[in-house]
Amino acid sequence: MSNIVAIVGRPNVGKSTLFNRMIQRREAIVDATSGVTRDRHYGKSDWNGKEFSLIDTGGYVVGSDDIFEQEIDKQVELAIDEADAILFMVDVEAGVTGMDEDVAKLLRKVNKPVLLVVNKVDNSMREAQAVEFYSLGLGEYYTISGMNGSGTGELLDALIEALPDKPEEEENDLPRFAVVGRPNAGKSSFINALIGEERYIVTDIAGTTRDSIDTKYDRFGFEFNLVDTAGIRRKSKVKEDLEFYSVMRSVRAIEHCDVCLLVFDATRGFDGQVQNIFWLAERNHKGIVILVNKWDLVEKDNRTVKEFEQMIRKEIEPFTDVPIVFISAMTKQRIFKAIETAVEVYKNRSNRISTSKLNDVMLPIIENQPPPAYKGKYVKIKFCTQLPTKYPQFAFFCNLPQYLRDPYKRFLENKLREHFNFNGVPITIYFRKK
Ligand code: GDP
Ligand code: GDP
Repeated sequence: MSNIVAIVGRPNVGKSTLFNRMIQRREAIVDATSGVTRDRHYGKSDWNGKEFSLIDTGGYVVGSDDIFEQEIDKQVELAIDEADAILFMVDVEAGVTGMDEDVAKLLRKVNKPVLLVVNKVDNSMREAQAVEFYSLGLGEYYTISGMNGSGTGELLDALIEALPDKPEEEENDLPRFAVVGRPNAGKSSFINALIGEERYIVTDIAGTTRDSIDTKYDRFGFEFNLVDTAGIRRKSKVKEDLEFYSVMRSVRAIEHCDVCLLVFDATRGFDGQVQNIFWLAERNHKGIVILVNKWDLVEKDNRTVKEFEQMIRKEIEPFTDVPIVFISAMTKQRIFKAIETAVEVYKNRSNRISTSKLNDVMLPIIENQPPPAYKGKYVKIKFCTQLPTKYPQFAFFCNLPQYLRDPYKRFLENKLREHFNFNGVPITIYFRKK
């Protein structure tokens, strides 16, 4: 489980500029392979071989110019609850502002690493100006220019140094399921319906409050761990239905699980916030089951299920090979089916296809429909293999990998899905030179 780092600070100090710089290298890779629009405020970064997740809290505020102070305070409180370390950014051009002082006041009480980052220090004259930020009472600060990158190396060194060492993951082979979704979608109701009574809880793995999120269940004849955000939920004072809130809440649980049960409220629609969580799971290579909850409230005829499915699949293109289960946490309708489906997706995610079988199936398909010529060059794919990783990744070896485009990649993915069962599981495809 990687550490979570949040960048906080008032609008226009340069949070997203730094965020982009820190995730740029990897982000470019992700986008090149998928062609899907992503949440631009959450990403993975690494420094000196240590990986962490980065969240730009400012990115989740709309109309950030006239943002209320109160709202920033809420974001900072959430970041304090959820992150392992906080980068508090201020702007040397503007100097110390009242809003900075308010945020500093919240952060002074925090019992986890807080790094004060003075941004827009583009030249040595501004270096001297930065001393005024000592008045925030947060001690040493780091001067950087998010724009030209100066000082960011030192900042990252200090950040990596400050991050807590994560304990090794509990290695049991049980599937880890995370119940995620927007506030009020019915996550706790679903979990309660599932658990029914306390006696189904086999072990409650002890630990600190924030990290003890795995609970082992033995239910419906399946054993699994539920990666629960409920324990964390109780801690926060923030109840608002902020987009930022559901993302922040989901990150840790998603990173820690094998399969996400994405609960959404059938009466509210599969909106942008639900989609953000969906893509968060997809980009983390997690299995996904979509649970359409509160199905008891929907007026139905014989077309309603089809219509819902079509509506959802349209929103999750091109990754549409995902199971959708219609449930009611209240009446307990199909909650067994939900778990059964999650177990199937878990199995699909660990599905390993032998190289000979894979080539027997894929090579004739490729021969029948070879990659189109690109800039007059013909690409010849010679063989393919599934990589020995926890989630499905495939390498196709060819003479000119750089000439293969996304549409052909999607074609190959679709064929893989047709012939093998990867329902609910993101697939990664690489083209390699041979
Ligand atoms: P956010 O609202 O905190 O995410 O701030 P942005 O990253 O959007 O930056 C706000 C403005 O400050 C933009 O016009 C940036 O180009 C500018 N900016 C960001 N970093 C620097 C920097 O290091 N130096 C200077 N001079 N400007 C910067
Ligand atoms: P959470 O914030 O995602 O954990 O959502 P809750 O489980 O607290 O549920 C939010 C509200 O929706 C509560 O008032 C629940 O009683 C209600 N609710 C949850 N599931 C269902 C359902 O399947 N049917 C109906 N009618 N109401 C539900």
